[in-house]
Amino acid sequence: MERCVLNLNYCADIDCIDSFIPRDCLVVTIIDAKIAEIYGKYFPTPQIRVVASENNKSLQSVESISLQLLEMGVDRSSFLLAVGGGVISDLVGFIGSIYMRGIKFAYVPTTLLAQVDAAIGGKTAVNLSGFKNILGVVNQPAFTLICPEFLNSLPKNEMLAGLSEMLKTFIIADRDNYFNFLGEVRSRQLEAKILWPFIKKCSSIKASIVEQDPFDNGVRKLLNLGHTFAHALEKITQLHHGEAVSIGIILASKLSVKLSLLQSDEELTIESDFKDLGLPVASPVKLSSLTDVMLKDKKKTGGNLDLILIESIGKAIIYSINVKDLEGLLNDLS
Ligand code: ADP
Ligand code: ZN
Repeated sequence: MERCVLNLNYCADIDCIDSFIPRDCLVVTIIDAKIAEIYGKYFPTPQIRVVASENNKSLQSVESISLQLLEMGVDRSSFLLAVGGGVISDLVGFIGSIYMRGIKFAYVPTTLLAQVDAAIGGKTAVNLSGFKNILGVVNQPAFTLICPEFLNSLPKNEMLAGLSEMLKTFIIADRDNYFNFLGEVRSRQLEAKILWPFIKKCSSIKASIVEQDPFDNGVRKLLNLGHTFAHALEKITQLHHGEAVSIGIILASKLSVKLSLLQSDEELTIESDFKDLGLPVASPVKLSSLTDVMLKDKKKTGGNLDLILIESIGKAIIYSINVKDLEGLLNDLS
């Protein structure tokens, strides 16, 4: 099989974005409407503005944007540039993958979450009648271009969402940077300047994991740390994805201790670090209601779930567990 190589680019200065925009074909920028207002001048190509809401990650949006692309003369030689957070990259990646059987597309992620996670790895999707990410493909963008200047306008709750994905990546794969990162961000403002070296580190870790397993059959599953719980929490609460991931990681840590995989002082470290950063650590709903949702989870294989558990900060494992057994273990935790 052909080796998968991801094309990640970094530009510390927003003025440099221009040098990455192709010159030899029609480029259309599909851009978060909010971002277009603040940073639109950095994208001097025809633009389609989209409001970044889960509702707009829909087949209706695919249809209306595709119609606009047709009217603009976009064909197989053209290029789509997606500028925004995960909603925009998921939607544009999907359109780019199917418009005229697929055209080139690239991402300029503008949220911290998209810079370290959503815009890397080629997962694209839209929702179907309120069911999240049901229709999609795995298809890598021509490039992902990461620029920290967008983060200057990002609201604090969106910053925190990205932070929990960064901590996730470091817990999975990089103990030293977990502690370096916490040392830098604890008790400081979440400034782009401080985050920048860790954004580079974190995005490159994600890329290298994806390169080893682009279709999510093995090692890439580790990136789901906290997410089985998070997805269940998101279905039954109003929690933001990042908050749900934070609680999910803490639950995975506690479960790892319970199963004697992780030492309890490591779990306490993670929990107090997350609290210090202002991330939630306790589930607002009974844990038994989470297992009810998980029983229906799409990642379920037979009666088993592939849960991601922690052996130490810096090392996670895939742990296959029966949902009924999980129910018992979670009941003991609460
Ligand atoms: P993600 O899926 O990456 O968390 P979304 O695409 O859902 O992000 O966007 C979350 C919210 O943040 C949206 O309201 C979007 O318009 C807004 N947003 C995205 N990037 C920025 C930015 N750089 N500055 C301010 N707001 C932003
Ligand atoms: Zn996530």
